[in-house]
Amino acid sequence: MLGEILEKETCAGCRWCCSFRRMSLGETPRFAPDAVARIRGRFPDVAFVEGADGASKTRWLRYDLRGSYRTDDPAEEAPCPFLVSGKGCALGDADKPFECKLWPYRVMRKDGELVLAVAEECPGLRAQGYALDFARGPLRTKVEAALDAGPVVVQDWRAGYRVVCGLGVRS
Ligand code: SF4
Ligand code: SF4
Repeated sequence: MLGEILEKETCAGCRWCCSFRRMSLGETPRFAPDAVARIRGRFPDVAFVEGADGASKTRWLRYDLRGSYRTDDPAEEAPCPFLVSGKGCALGDADKPFECKLWPYRVMRKDGELVLAVAEECPGLRAQGYALDFARGPLRTKVEAALDAGPVVVQDWRAGYRVVCGLGVRS
């Protein structure tokens, strides 16, 4: 989804995504139950835990990284179980969570409305002014189509993001 603005080489040199500290386990991507049912056939050893989006009550699952840390160092990062060293994500387009396809942009709830936002920390996008023309044009169109098609993970607003554009009031 972001291939036209983020080169693979940029992300390979950054590697900030796809691994998580203990304090960031709430940032791991959420999978729809039907995607998990497909994924379990290929990755039977990956454990998932259930959760729900507070506002919509939509049911999601997250992979469980709690047993993946080898030290007590809070800075230790545990990789996503679908991250293949040197190759990237092992999941195909049908199974990769929408959150992952959209990152470092996010759909967030701010002051009762949905907004498209961008993570300020992403160096690849920061270097191009967060690609706002792309985000407010073709990306917004894709996000609105996804919102129309079914449940999309919505994050609560927090520091570290900046608003790209509004997406209106949706339940
Ligand atoms: S933070 Fe940005 S540049 Fe770095 S790996 Fe993630 S998407 Fe790529
Ligand atoms: S599912 Fe793929 S894109 Fe998402 S965090 Fe894991 S490796 Fe990264």
